[in-house]
Amino acid sequence: MYICIDLGGTNLRGTWINKSGKSGKVSIVARPKSLEGTKEALFVIIQEIKKDSPESAQKIGVASAGPMDLVGGIYLNPTNMPELKGFNLKNFISEKFGLDLVVENDAQAAALGEIFKGCLSGEKDAIVFTLGTGLGSGVIINEDIWRGRLAAGPELGHLYLGPGRRIRCGCGQTGCAETWLNAEALKDLAARNGIQVENPRELDYYLTKKDAQALKTLSQYGRRLGLYLSQVVSIFGITKIGLGGGLSRLGPYFADSVHNTLIHRLAPRKWLIPEKICFSSDPEMSALWGMCFLMLRRSDARD
Ligand SMILES: [Zn+2]
Repeated sequence: MYICIDLGGTNLRGTWINKSGKSGKVSIVARPKSLEGTKEALFVIIQEIKKDSPESAQKIGVASAGPMDLVGGIYLNPTNMPELKGFNLKNFISEKFGLDLVVENDAQAAALGEIFKGCLSGEKDAIVFTLGTGLGSGVIINEDIWRGRLAAGPELGHLYLGPGRRIRCGCGQTGCAETWLNAEALKDLAARNGIQVENPRELDYYLTKKDAQALKTLSQYGRRLGLYLSQVVSIFGITKIGLGGGLSRLGPYFADSVHNTLIHRLAPRKWLIPEKICFSSDPEMSALWGMCFLMLRRSDARD
């Protein structure tokens, strides 16, 4: 049995998952924006999961935003959680719980999770995007995370998607795919169509009423996403695409537009048209499934 945790900017989520894929209830603990507070939150959530678990844990897996030293389990210079810089997570877990730790970048873990238990279950090659506050990506080749020559893997969210969007990306540049496709971008697109929302969740109200401007917003968003995906499949030749993260929920409203754009863009190279574009059935679980998959695989490799 493994304890799987997703340590994010706002909160920590976790559960136990056993070898046959059975999992417990998902615990959620808010993350104070300090190192001591984060340690305390980690301690609390692990205790909670242990209490819920029918057997004792073999390992702990933590998915988190990087950059991290994945072997040493140390936060390097986390962009969204600067207070964790230098935090040795591996030592902390070993001292407090006497257990081994496996860490992975959250977007990569989510990608693995989708081929393990999610919408791409059983696929060997896939690209999975996390559409939310940012744009995370994970490239899976032969059931493994493909990193190229980069410690954390390719950062597909920073591919250039054209001028016209003035918002600066977290990387310091403008025009990154992330700034065109994240939650903020969707909110701005809605505003341009006359719908003011604080959060993309508020679009649900208009969408269920089949509001023309809301539907148009999602169709425009789908066109952007389609253009982006046409570039990504051209790089990797991988035609199984998973979409997770908070915005994937709106998939039914933009799926047709993504599909039509891809067919148009890739008409001369039909073999690149994605065979499958699926939406995560439970985006909150993806990274947790992924951590379990990683730990299972590592213990298999040793046997
Ligand atoms: Zn960027």
